[in-house]
Amino acid sequence: MTALPSLFISHGAPMVLVDDSPARSFLKNLPARLAGPPLRAIVVLTAHWESELPRISAAIRPETIYDFYGFPDALYEVSYPAPGDPALAAEIAGLLQRQGIGAVIDEQRGFDHGTWVPLALMYPDADIPVVQLSVQPGKDPAFHFRLGAALRPLREQGVLLIGSGSMTHNLSEYRRHMGQDKAPDWVDEFADGVWALLESRADEALFDYETSLPHTRRNHPTNDHFLPLFFALGAATPGKVPERIHRSLSYGVLRMDAIAFS
Ligand code: ZN
Repeated sequence: MTALPSLFISHGAPMVLVDDSPARSFLKNLPARLAGPPLRAIVVLTAHWESELPRISAAIRPETIYDFYGFPDALYEVSYPAPGDPALAAEIAGLLQRQGIGAVIDEQRGFDHGTWVPLALMYPDADIPVVQLSVQPGKDPAFHFRLGAALRPLREQGVLLIGSGSMTHNLSEYRRHMGQDKAPDWVDEFADGVWALLESRADEALFDYETSLPHTRRNHPTNDHFLPLFFALGAATPGKVPERIHRSLSYGVLRMDAIAFS
């Protein structure tokens, strides 16, 4: 049976929604290239919802959360009114439970910009139900891999699994580099190192990225935007080589790479 891929996407700054960029075009065109069963729902593990235990959004009509500051008014006028999917949220809790992972159903949580900014480009009609998962910065890559692996069966049922973070994410250095077309070496060496490990499915070395890759702390002063990659990787079919479906740069230091795992 064909299954949808799982995806890691770099969501970038909210400006990706309004400013023309390679990443913006990529996200707009991405749905057309996804093979698999008809889309029933989307599950996004977002870097912008941190918790100790996994939380699963189960609001029927999730609100749009504007969790960013100092951006143009136009961005605060966009809403993403996609429905939630409480039944799928319960199913996800059950799949996690079966793997010994406790999770919390959250009937209040809305969509943060790690979810709605890329989805507003990918699925602007907002007519596909969306369930959001939180990231656990206190837990390791292997844990996030297990989360993805637990949800892997959903890919065959028309559920698109997305880890939404950023391939590189140093927000304190972008002012020095924005406007530059070429990333500093410390950015490319890390991002291309990630890809080399993914391409060879050196999962164990990737779990250990803080020691196996250069410039880790400089690219990810905190781990919240990198952990979603492991969710997408865990949802991949074992042994399958992923595809780097996008590579670009924004703000001089943010690599906007996206990976598809079949
Ligand atoms: Zn972010």
